[in-house]
Amino acid sequence: FEASLAALDTDVPPPHRVADRHAVVPVSTIGHFHNTPDTDPSVRTNRDWMRAAVIKAEKSDIGTAGIDAARIDSPAALNDLLEKAGATTWGTVSGEDRAKVLHRIGDRIEAHRAALIEVMAAEAGKTADQADPEVSEAVDFAHYYAELARELDSVDGAAFTPAGITLVTPPWNFPVAIPAGGVLAALAAGSTAVLKPAGPAERCGAVLAQAIWEALDDAGVARDVLTLVQVDEGTLGAQLIAHPRIDRTILTGAYETAELFRSFRPDLPLLAETSGKNAIIVTPSADLDLAVKDVVHSAFGHAGQKCSAASLVVLVGSVARSKRFRTQLMDAVSSLTVGYPWDPSSQVGPVIEPPSGKLLDGLTTLGEGESWLIEPRALDSSRKLWSPGVRDGVRRGSAYHHTEYFGPILGIMTADTLSEAIDIVNEVEYGLTSGIHSLDVAELRTWLNRIQAGNLYVNRGTTGAIVQRQPFGGWKRSSVGPGTKAGGPNYLVGLGSWDSRPATA
Ligand code: GLU
Repeated sequence: FEASLAALDTDVPPPHRVADRHAVVPVSTIGHFHNTPDTDPSVRTNRDWMRAAVIKAEKSDIGTAGIDAARIDSPAALNDLLEKAGATTWGTVSGEDRAKVLHRIGDRIEAHRAALIEVMAAEAGKTADQADPEVSEAVDFAHYYAELARELDSVDGAAFTPAGITLVTPPWNFPVAIPAGGVLAALAAGSTAVLKPAGPAERCGAVLAQAIWEALDDAGVARDVLTLVQVDEGTLGAQLIAHPRIDRTILTGAYETAELFRSFRPDLPLLAETSGKNAIIVTPSADLDLAVKDVVHSAFGHAGQKCSAASLVVLVGSVARSKRFRTQLMDAVSSLTVGYPWDPSSQVGPVIEPPSGKLLDGLTTLGEGESWLIEPRALDSSRKLWSPGVRDGVRRGSAYHHTEYFGPILGIMTADTLSEAIDIVNEVEYGLTSGIHSLDVAELRTWLNRIQAGNLYVNRGTTGAIVQRQPFGGWKRSSVGPGTKAGGPNYLVGLGSWDSRPATA
């Protein structure tokens, strides 16, 4: 069985499973990259170290005071800023030399691991176990894209010209890894980066930028290859997005945000990873203990505020009919400790702001035929701490089936057969991550051939994609643009132009 699974699964290094619609160029294997390990919490001194970082977070500064960012407060300020960003000579630096700078940046980000964990806890409510791997991912992006930068110079039959300015507009939910991914891809591809952190995570963006600037200082590269900006998301924000000096925009956010960006500038060259409504299928052959653990982790890690989170579990056949999975799930979910990150016992942190609109609906309103297996409750007066909720009886075609809520809530659906379960999952207009728990190779093969999602996970949760091993990106309405995946071999190729089509390997 293990041999069959290995054949289905991705190898390290790639080839990864790349759908036909993806641009495939021969930037596909790299030699010297290793993933950075997370801090091992089973070691006592590590635990104490992480605890110290999050305890400090309770009192550390949040907000924008003292952040060294360029404030865009007029159209003239915007023009000046982009003029300056476009005037760097970074695009003439060789891939080999850019790689050296990127490696230094990776080392600097690693050196700031504690400060980054602290600011993620303080500003974004991330618990240490969620924040620590995010730093590792940022470090991985630096070292991985460094290796890809080298390869851009040696693609057969085509020359690469870097984009001038790449605008990076990350979300607040991964306030370090996602901005790092965008900025470092841009720099690795010889483009200047302009980073506009998400409103609720500006300080995280600033601590990251500081680490990058320090590495640039060490390397003797002028700091203006990375500009950190602050701009209100009104008229000037729209002018920034629409500005013709911007050559590429890397967005991670809701599908509607990508559409909004395109409404500001129809020809916007956009690389966007957008919404998800992700499911894990559990078949009768599954290891149910493992399935429960992975479903809980995927649904409620960072209070479910991940594009990659599982917000549906589809139980098949006898798993749907028996009580066992539901009982174990109920036990596991109700045992989760909800709290702020500075309390080391917290497993589920706060939501970013008191729920309103769609999320409030998801937490409080049941659809037809649904019932609460566990009803979510606001646990304190801030209304940011919610006990996780599980709704049973979600019907095909219902609002819950199709809506992304982005919070601590999971729905249970049932199917008679695996094929019906796959139809249920594919019916959703998004296709970001998807999971299956099954120990039957024929089932896995069927699922792999039919499921429509960018990132597929077998007997594993749907969150926490690892650079190089699981390049991250969506399908259908979970992706806008060329469909290249972050942390994957093709990501840089969209960040510049080619004088002819590279010869494929
Ligand atoms: N890359 C993250 C993961 O695999 C998700 C990013 C997102 O939420 O946008 O969990």
